[in-house]
Amino acid sequence: MSKVLIIEDEKNLARFVELELQHENYETLVEYNGRKGLDQALNGDFDVILLDLMLPELNGLEIARRVRQVKTTPIIMMTARDSVIDRVSGLDHGADDYIVKPFAIEELLARLRAVLRRVNLEKKSQNGIVSKQKIVKFNDLTIETANRIVHREGKSIDLTKREYNLLMTLIENKNNVVSREQLLDQIWGPESKIETNVVEVYVRYLRNKIDVPDRPSYIKTVRGTGYMMRTDDVE
Ligand code: CA
Repeated sequence: MSKVLIIEDEKNLARFVELELQHENYETLVEYNGRKGLDQALNGDFDVILLDLMLPELNGLEIARRVRQVKTTPIIMMTARDSVIDRVSGLDHGADDYIVKPFAIEELLARLRAVLRRVNLEKKSQNGIVSKQKIVKFNDLTIETANRIVHREGKSIDLTKREYNLLMTLIENKNNVVSREQLLDQIWGPESKIETNVVEVYVRYLRNKIDVPDRPSYIKTVRGTGYMMRTDDVE
């Protein structure tokens, strides 16, 4: 069972989050005050910390900074202010993710699961359990298959599951045209009722992520047919 520390001074919100998390089988502890929250974060053994930004006695940024000096416990910042500055400074201070209030509980649960999944994967790979990690190369793309991360020109790019599947399908069929229908089959399943223009949308997402500005896309559109990735596209 994962343990979550909730540091939040709005009692109603704290209670609501606590109940929802307990319902999802998380163990929870709530602190309403920044200083007590920090004590718990430093001395307790939590899997994730949900951290409010504006707190009495000690603010969330300071808590994140101090926790990070000694611990790697993932921190999800909950902030009412949706400004870029806050996001950036939250992440600078060591938060792993942030969520903007008011949020849907489903969104919070999804973030929690994502953070925990990442941590578990890291733990496993440190213990050498994940041997399924494979590195796939395509021109100057390096793809880590276990965590769906692509590296290009020193940049790490996180792909969603569909984007990743799309990329891998194209690479597996490199130098051949893959039709939109084939991609639909491969990625959404033959039963799906999805229109082929969804494929175009995902190709666009993927291009935005892996392409380099002012250089031709690695994913060529073959008019009227589909898409192709060619190995001789290196400049
Ligand atoms: Ca607050």
